[in-house]
Amino acid sequence: MSDLHERARELDAADPLAGHRAEFALDEGTVYLDGNSLGALPAHVPARMADVIGREWGELRIRSWDESGWWTAPERIGDRIAPLVGAAPGRIVVGDSTSVNVFKAVVAATRLAGEGRDEILVDATTFPTDGYIAESAARMTGHRIVPLDPADIPGAAGPRTALALVNHVDYRTGRLHDLPGTTAALRAAGALAVWDLCHSAGALPVGLDAHGVDLAVGCTYKYLNGGPGSPAYLYVAERHQAAFDSPLPGWNSHADPFGMTPGYRAADGAVRGRVGTPDILSTLALEAALDVWDGVDVNAVRAKSLALTDFFLECVRAYVPEGRVVSVTPEAHAERGSQVALSCPDAAAVMPELIARGVVGDLRRPDVLRFGFTPLYVGFADTERAARVLADVLAAAS
Ligand SMILES: *Cc1c(COP(=O)(O)O)cnc(C)c1O
Repeated sequence: MSDLHERARELDAADPLAGHRAEFALDEGTVYLDGNSLGALPAHVPARMADVIGREWGELRIRSWDESGWWTAPERIGDRIAPLVGAAPGRIVVGDSTSVNVFKAVVAATRLAGEGRDEILVDATTFPTDGYIAESAARMTGHRIVPLDPADIPGAAGPRTALALVNHVDYRTGRLHDLPGTTAALRAAGALAVWDLCHSAGALPVGLDAHGVDLAVGCTYKYLNGGPGSPAYLYVAERHQAAFDSPLPGWNSHADPFGMTPGYRAADGAVRGRVGTPDILSTLALEAALDVWDGVDVNAVRAKSLALTDFFLECVRAYVPEGRVVSVTPEAHAERGSQVALSCPDAAAVMPELIARGVVGDLRRPDVLRFGFTPLYVGFADTERAARVLADVLAAAS
């Protein structure tokens, strides 16, 4: 046991990202491994929000739409997220929930795909909301849903495929899917690739522009630490922007929103993805939270994420008796996101006990213990402690 404890201290001492932890409001008593569900609070955000509420709203009031940059916040913040997902400026707009952006992206993709393509391929293992929304979008647009394992999507794409909606990282198992290969296969078939980046942005490089992704969506309250219910984002590849036809053409996406004209005329660029008045408090909390990424290299984040999940699996193997838990997260780095999911028959009893002992992960019913690794604020000593406490809880339960 002490070997791994010692290794953890050495790894933390050599970790180039270790200094970022101090930028977050975290207590030493807790190992927070649920940043893949709700990212931790960057410590400077409350002061920024006090200013937004007290001065921008309280004193400037309506003037803040211009003078405090409220009106243009969705595009400005999109440009802050862009480098984290490999997009050039002008391709991402922030707003609404992921669910709403899935709707915009799926319907817009059917319109971009054109006539004669009546199939929507959907990742059958998807986070449920994506599947529900895609099904409704298909009914509205006269398409047929084809649920598939993401690995089978490249082979299934054909002349009838309008688009595929795929998760980059599976929320349950932590499996990382092949974005470059799947995107290339879809495009070769004349179909569009729509990716959900909820579990990859802020955890690993995505390369949206480089890999030719058509449309993408993602949330900002997981690895991007935007706060509970912070707005999601929508990416539209440059080649699709002029033809992107939103199914929710609200006045915020109008070319002349304050013209207040009866006829709709879409704005140019990413603004076209906007709908109505942005949720300014959440939006500006997200903007402040993104400061922690200034100067951070996503490749360094990825390297640490893999080192953390490797080390966690090693500690679990060393501390937990064989067979008590089984990892459902792939061993291969090329197939692993930034979490470890362990299946365990008593998961529903084990997770509350872990949380009571200061190790916060979450449960995905019926039997999955999920541990998310956020490289900006989780270290190797935390990781070793989490595995040790897991072993203690399992020993006490047997
Ligand atoms: C977290 C998550 C969502 C959340 O959708 P909301 O509309 O923000 O509630 C959607 N899809 C995936 C893949 C997720 O991981």
